[in-house]
Amino acid sequence: MKYSFEFHPYSRKFKQPLVTSHGLWKTREGIILRLKDETGSVGFGEIAPLEWFGSESLQQALEFCNQLPSEITSDDVFAIPKQLPACQFGFESALSEVKFIEKYNKFNLEKIISFSGLLPSGKTALDTWKRLWNQGYRTFKWKIGITNIVEELKVFHSLAYSLPQEAKLRLDANAGLTLPEAVEWLKACDRYAIEFLEQPLPVTELESMLKLSKSYSTRLALDESIANIDQLKACYKKGWQGIFVIKPAIAGSPKLLREFCKNQKIDAVFSSVFETRIGTSAGLKLATELNKNNLAAGFGVTHWFSKEDFLSSPDTHTFRPYEPCKPIFQELWTKLSKLSNT
Ligand SMILES: [Mg+2]
Repeated sequence: MKYSFEFHPYSRKFKQPLVTSHGLWKTREGIILRLKDETGSVGFGEIAPLEWFGSESLQQALEFCNQLPSEITSDDVFAIPKQLPACQFGFESALSEVKFIEKYNKFNLEKIISFSGLLPSGKTALDTWKRLWNQGYRTFKWKIGITNIVEELKVFHSLAYSLPQEAKLRLDANAGLTLPEAVEWLKACDRYAIEFLEQPLPVTELESMLKLSKSYSTRLALDESIANIDQLKACYKKGWQGIFVIKPAIAGSPKLLREFCKNQKIDAVFSSVFETRIGTSAGLKLATELNKNNLAAGFGVTHWFSKEDFLSSPDTHTFRPYEPCKPIFQELWTKLSKLSNT
């Protein structure tokens, strides 16, 4: 079967720049692609690279799309090299949408238990959590390792103290702590039953993280260390028993990710890379299939974009009509919009 292939780059601005350990992130850029089979059935996919996490760059993804012919086959899709994990995700998602539409309708949304809402870094989090709480969020994520530890711990104590008992708080250091700092944070986390601490140390320090994971009651999660499927498998093999934060949009082939997650018992948190609703829907589909625990999915990021931007297509002018609104997506967007509207 041949599929006609089209793609369009997009860019969407964050309402406020995202402070990351790699600097300020102001605009999310990516590519929306569309595959259409000979019967006219259409599937959309999204390529949302995150180069500093180890995926291909946007430029590389664009070059890859540019050199493809206007008609491709599923063999072409499954032959995309693993050095282009975001492309693998985008093309495979589009292909599965064309080919397995009926499966989407059987997809059990109730298995998506909840989402975690990403708080802004620093003191702003102290005000923001209430707004997110009122929108229905019960799990929050706060980034640490951005300013000095003494200041951050002060804010942390205030935040942890002010959150209602029902709330869960997870911290993400984005590999930005030293070992003594990680110890300090873990001691503090243990006082408040923090849900987990994500990637305290750099990718090169897996051994130390393995040790830390056995020394404190707060669980540790790996994120940067397992940016793609090969890394995920390697850390699993080395004995990681903590949480795995999986970003499906950059992890690589959904087919291989499914195989791994179905064959191994791992605690996974599926998480966004600030993709549009196209990538989100494909990521959530994987999350509902593969999530075996009650950890909130890290897709609570819609408040980082304007409502119009989230609900409208990035490419209404180029792909008309914008068609991925099969019943399942309608339902998903209703659910997500409720979170972002209320
Ligand atoms: Mg993270």
